[in-house]
Amino acid sequence: MTQFSELGLAEPILKAVAAQGYTTPSPVQAQAIPAVLAGRDVMAAAQTGTGKTAGFTLPMLHKLQQGKRASANRCRALVLTPTRELAAQVGANVVEYSQHLNISSTVVFGGVGINPQMIKLRRGVDVLVACPGRLLDLYKQNAVRFDEVEFLVLDEADRMLDMGFIHDIKRILAMLPKKRQTLMFSATFSNEIRTLAKGLVQDPIEIDVSPRNSTAHSVEQWLIPVDKKRKPEVLSSLLRDNDWNQVLVFTRTKHGANRLTTHLQDRGITAAAIHGNKSQGARTRALSDFKNGEVSVLVATDIAARGLDIEQLPLVVNFELPNVAADYVHRIGRTGRAGATGEAIALVCAEELEDLEGIEGLIGKSIERRIQAGFEPSKPLPISRPKAPRKPKKAKQPKGFKDTFDREPRAARPANRNGAGRNSASKPANKSSNTGARTAANASGNRRPASTAPRRSSRTA
Ligand code: AMP
Repeated sequence: MTQFSELGLAEPILKAVAAQGYTTPSPVQAQAIPAVLAGRDVMAAAQTGTGKTAGFTLPMLHKLQQGKRASANRCRALVLTPTRELAAQVGANVVEYSQHLNISSTVVFGGVGINPQMIKLRRGVDVLVACPGRLLDLYKQNAVRFDEVEFLVLDEADRMLDMGFIHDIKRILAMLPKKRQTLMFSATFSNEIRTLAKGLVQDPIEIDVSPRNSTAHSVEQWLIPVDKKRKPEVLSSLLRDNDWNQVLVFTRTKHGANRLTTHLQDRGITAAAIHGNKSQGARTRALSDFKNGEVSVLVATDIAARGLDIEQLPLVVNFELPNVAADYVHRIGRTGRAGATGEAIALVCAEELEDLEGIEGLIGKSIERRIQAGFEPSKPLPISRPKAPRKPKKAKQPKGFKDTFDREPRAARPANRNGAGRNSASKPANKSSNTGARTAANASGNRRPASTAPRRSSRTA
């Protein structure tokens, strides 16, 4: 097996890696590090939890330490991430890996004051980790220029598209020097991602360490059939009986997350919610309380949870199934990380059968069912017939929406057995689909046709 010392990284980087306790490179690292050192562009299909952050950061730091420091208001490596939590996580890793180097870095995202970020940028930073909206705000205020960018990293590119960042990304791309190295990471490589990649990476080395849409082998998955209204009760009973003390629970909605958190707190269980209606301070606090054990249950929505890196998370609970099947894979990727084992439990009511079938179709297997004594459902969960996800119907583009990079509205994706998203399932693909796309985009909270809505300065889940 390859050792870190054989990859050609500088001593101070190897020292920092050793301090993290890593012994051997993960598969994505073993492939990405030599490729980046050789100056190649990279397109890697790797989920969070595979060690991808070190996979791009370590070789980038190696090359950056050989060059000149960044000038005022410039950066040399730009890492774009979809969420604030992921940005903070990547930023923290950059600091750890560069601790023995003369390399500066900072993180910028919305939801917090812009002035301290402007001050940090004034001297220039070698590595800038940014969420796209805030980066553009900083650009508009002349706080950052991109003419010294040598590296661009797009982290979790699939989620960036899902969150409607394509226009921001394109605006940023247009300002970057043509001569640069580009590294693109995505949990999956859909056609949309490949289209985006075409104008972005040149003759890339392709790395695929996560077979498309498969779930991590080290995660034991099962589901508990239960009536919808008894879900909070079954969860609190499981938490009490099993003495679970670090559990990440997924709900579909922010309100659902709040309600469940209150339910658990009322029963003496320490719980906190993390979602986009919470201030950045509250989100950071909830995460650190969870990490240091003061809070045993973190209740999260999908987007807020993206990028959370909690070492050795033993258990993930799907309080509700996601209606986009791929989100199930992302959710349970929170556990069983970097070789550790984990468990993923779903509480599933009869009404979620279609979501379950979509998920089982995507992961290519049935999820084992375990009845919880005392919570046998009065409305039984029917036998599921896993469905291969169908090709989504191509949604019509709204007028004046000629963007070749753009994605279809997420609601038109195959979230159920009819091959259509919830919001658009009954909409015919005729001229009314413009309205359908807009309604779905608005309903999902984060997406909008770029031609109509004002750009926001920060993005939340
Ligand atoms: P990532 O996929 O970058 O979010 O990394 C997931 C987790 O794996 C993080 O907690 C890293 O600290 C950890 N990690 C990264 N590389 C290695 C390695 N070579 N050996 C063990 N753990 C690692």
